[in-house]
Amino acid sequence: MSVEIQLCNDCKTETVYFHAGTLRSYLEKEPYAEHKLRKLKASQWVSFCPECHADVLKPEGKNFDLPVFCSDGVFRTSTDLLKNQAGEPEAIWDFWGLRFTPAALINASELLQFTYPGTEEVEQLGKKLRTGASDEFLRFSEEVCGWGGGLRVWGGLMKRHHDKAEFSKKIKDWLCSAMTAENAEAAIEQGTAIKGLGVSFASKHLRMFDPEKFCVLDDVLSKGLGIALYPKGYQLFLSLLQAFNDEKSLKWPMARLESALFMLVRQQVRS
Ligand SMILES: [Zn+2]
Repeated sequence: MSVEIQLCNDCKTETVYFHAGTLRSYLEKEPYAEHKLRKLKASQWVSFCPECHADVLKPEGKNFDLPVFCSDGVFRTSTDLLKNQAGEPEAIWDFWGLRFTPAALINASELLQFTYPGTEEVEQLGKKLRTGASDEFLRFSEEVCGWGGGLRVWGGLMKRHHDKAEFSKKIKDWLCSAMTAENAEAAIEQGTAIKGLGVSFASKHLRMFDPEKFCVLDDVLSKGLGIALYPKGYQLFLSLLQAFNDEKSLKWPMARLESALFMLVRQQVRS
């Protein structure tokens, strides 16, 4: 994955790129965003000049800079670019071929929380189920599917494959036994054994049930990182996340690390 080196017409600074689809999903939450940016095609890169578009790359009143893609294949923030100009040494992290600065990863995580504000509510419900404070496994499953853009998956589960009460019990049995499963592969396999659930939506259930321990592996992450969308791939992905978390002393929940990587890798997959 690479982009061309391009210079700003006005100030001749090298431009950086942000993906239009990701930009749009973020701008939908921004009532005053420039209209022309909203109309972009979802599959293109948009170039920005770090000098002339500084206000876009570091939005006022937000706790994040946009993690932008540079022509050398590294995601950075505008603060990283300023530090580079000042000649400060730079750390570049590599996750299974995806390259970014620590700030780009942290800001991707913040940007994701801003773009998907409903995440916490589903996590809260998952926590209630996990701790036995609620027994609404059916509602949980519906919310997980809604959150993951899988209303069709949900429709299929309900219309074609399962009776509601039976399905609710299956989900409960699975998630409760996943907590003590031997490994991630076993945990996800029990989920994909439920008719209508593949790795993508089974992993979304696990991630919302226990975000410390589990993550999502969907089509975007699978394509972007080259990790197979199978139980063995899920096992590999979680081992890589855990190793990265330890190596960089991040101490992040697995779900947070995965979602920040998702925010970066998605830009490449959809271009
Ligand atoms: Zn410029």
